[in-house]
Amino acid sequence: MLRLGHRPERDKRITTHVALVARAFGAKGIYVADVVDEHVARSITKVVETWGGSYFKIEMGVNPRKLVKKWKMEGGAVVHLTMYGLPVDDVVSKVRSYEKVLVVVGAEKVPRWVYDEATLNVAIGNQPHSEVSALAIFLDRLWGGRELNLCFPDAKMYIVPSERGKKVVTR
Ligand code: SAM
Repeated sequence: MLRLGHRPERDKRITTHVALVARAFGAKGIYVADVVDEHVARSITKVVETWGGSYFKIEMGVNPRKLVKKWKMEGGAVVHLTMYGLPVDDVVSKVRSYEKVLVVVGAEKVPRWVYDEATLNVAIGNQPHSEVSALAIFLDRLWGGRELNLCFPDAKMYIVPSERGKKVVTR
C-alpha cells in the first residue's frame, strides 16, 4: 500500500496504525510517500519482531508518481481509497482480477493527479472517516474475511483465543 501526505509531526500514530492494519490484514508492505519517519518504521519493526511477518516491507521517502507509473506499467492496479469514489462492493471483483494491487490512502488533501492516475477510485461509503478504517474495510472486502485467519509462521509469540484473559504462547 501507499501512504500519501504523511506529516511526521502530526501523523506518527495514524500512519503507524495504517501500517499495522496493512500488515495484520494481509498487505505485503507499505510505501510512505516523500518523507522518512524512523519513528513509524521502528514501531512496525518492533511488532514484526514479536508477532511475525518479516516479509512485510517498509519503504519510505518514495516518489509516489514514479511508483504509481511503474506499478501500472507492470500491469498492477492502483486503487485509491476516497469517499468520492465508486462503492467498494461494485468494484472489488474487478480489483481481484489483478495480480498486484497498490492501495493508496491520503492524509489531508490528496492531489488531483492521484484521482486521474488511479486505476480505480474506491469509496468505503460516501462519508468522510479515516484512512485506517478505509484500509481495514477495503482489505477485508478484498480477502472476503479470510485475512482474519492470517498466521505468521515466524512469530515469536501468538495468541490462543480465549473467552476471558490473555493466553499467549511464546516460541
Ligand atoms: N476529504 C478527504 C477525502 O478525499 O477522502 C478525507 C481525508 S481523510 C482524513 C484521509 C484519507 O482517508 C483519505 O485520503 C482516504 O484515503 C481515506 N478515506 C476517508 N474516508 C473515506 C471513505 N469514505 N472512503 C474511502 N477512503 C476514505
